[in-house]
Amino acid sequence: MNGNELLFNIGPVPSVPIVGRKDRFPVHRIYCVGRNYAAHAREMGKDPEKEPPFFFLKPADAVLPGGGNMHYPPGTENLHHEIEMVVAIQGEGRNIPAAKALDYVYGYAVGLDMTRRDLQFKARDMGRPWDFGKAFDESAPVAAIHPVASHGHHSMGKISLKVNGEMRQAADLQEMIWNVQDTIAYLSDYYLLKPGDLIFTGTPAGVGAVKKGDQMIGSVEGLGELSVTLV
Ligand code: MN
Repeated sequence: MNGNELLFNIGPVPSVPIVGRKDRFPVHRIYCVGRNYAAHAREMGKDPEKEPPFFFLKPADAVLPGGGNMHYPPGTENLHHEIEMVVAIQGEGRNIPAAKALDYVYGYAVGLDMTRRDLQFKARDMGRPWDFGKAFDESAPVAAIHPVASHGHHSMGKISLKVNGEMRQAADLQEMIWNVQDTIAYLSDYYLLKPGDLIFTGTPAGVGAVKKGDQMIGSVEGLGELSVTLV
């Protein structure tokens, strides 16, 4: 033993494919915005005028790269889909001004913030943390990242989710309460943002339950599709 060997091999760094590249995007942290679309805040029983968006995190290895099969998670009888645009961060910074925030964006992707709604609401109602409802294994399916260098920025366009071919969520990115710049600026006042961070930017209205065997197809205009099947 040279003093540098690890007791366990805990496996490779979680990563997400990148459109047009062989390299993958390594995942450092996963930040998520809560209630960033007014209609979704209202369907959760909250008033978006009174309560601004807020954040929670998922572990990096909750990512399900490229979608595909997702195992129905334990401990829930009410697993919900939340279609979201995901922002991939390439720069390190804190106190980032909104006017500079887009310089920190590597690219964008389609993602799903899968949620054990029964456990989330139980925690919410008891004033407890959301981790059991939000931060579980495979809870963050993310499709291939579209780099800004080749695909530009994404601040408008359709965002939607179909379950077994039926439209469940449909909105426009412009409906976000905090846009990408404001989100990065706000987060960076509380955390040191780093290359490899992913930010889930919130879901529009229409969230609902899915069950084993269901196929979800999410899309964001210009960013392709994310397909996830519950097994
Ligand atoms: Mn969400």
